[in-house]
Amino acid sequence: MTVLQGMLGEQVRDALIDALLPARCLNCRRPAAAAGWSPFLCSRCSAALPLRTRPTCVAPGLWIWAPMAFEGPARVLLHALKYHGATLIGRRLGQQIAMLLEETAPQIVVPVPLHWRRRWVRGHNQALTLARGVARELPSVRVMQVLRRVRATAPQVGLGARRRRANLRDAFAVETSRRRIEGLRVVLLDDVVTTGSTMLEAATTLRGEGALEILLAAAAVVPPIRQLTAPRSEPATQASRTR
Ligand SMILES: [Zn+2]
Repeated sequence: MTVLQGMLGEQVRDALIDALLPARCLNCRRPAAAAGWSPFLCSRCSAALPLRTRPTCVAPGLWIWAPMAFEGPARVLLHALKYHGATLIGRRLGQQIAMLLEETAPQIVVPVPLHWRRRWVRGHNQALTLARGVARELPSVRVMQVLRRVRATAPQVGLGARRRRANLRDAFAVETSRRRIEGLRVVLLDDVVTTGSTMLEAATTLRGEGALEILLAAAAVVPPIRQLTAPRSEPATQASRTR
């Protein structure tokens, strides 16, 4: 099978999955709204999305650009993206992330990779779907899959911050020896951020590639979170610490 056939097959499959989603709210099963998050949420659940307009702090010095908190209807959207490969939802979430990131003028989006075994089982990487959604909204942004997961890690659920970091040590590698992100403003993107351990480990791996700045972004962050109210100078400084 050629690469093109593979991509077309994936697109057709994703389109079918999206088409089969019922026109009922994924969260409460009421008829979906004609606007807002149509056809995925009703107007009430669309309005209840815990939206964020500024970066959020998930750990000391760790700021994540994410358009929503991982609660209520946002959990349902992220679940559909992760486990059902709902491309249209990924595209919409990517659009939300792009709107949030626009002022940072990013040039490259790097999706956090899955280990090949997990990607094979799931059939897609939800972070890549989101990254494509961002690039679709911001035409000057390119998606680069420069990271590779070299070690299958145990699920992070239930682990404390320290054990999460130990679990992820040396989990990532850079895909290429060419310094493709040198001097560029890079966004490292994942679907959901809990403690930020995965992000930190991936950012550490990217650090040696000479990026001008590495910003961390996600579709959602798990509460409790603290939203930044000051102008963006603070998170930019904080994010640059991850270089
Ligand atoms: Zn609803």
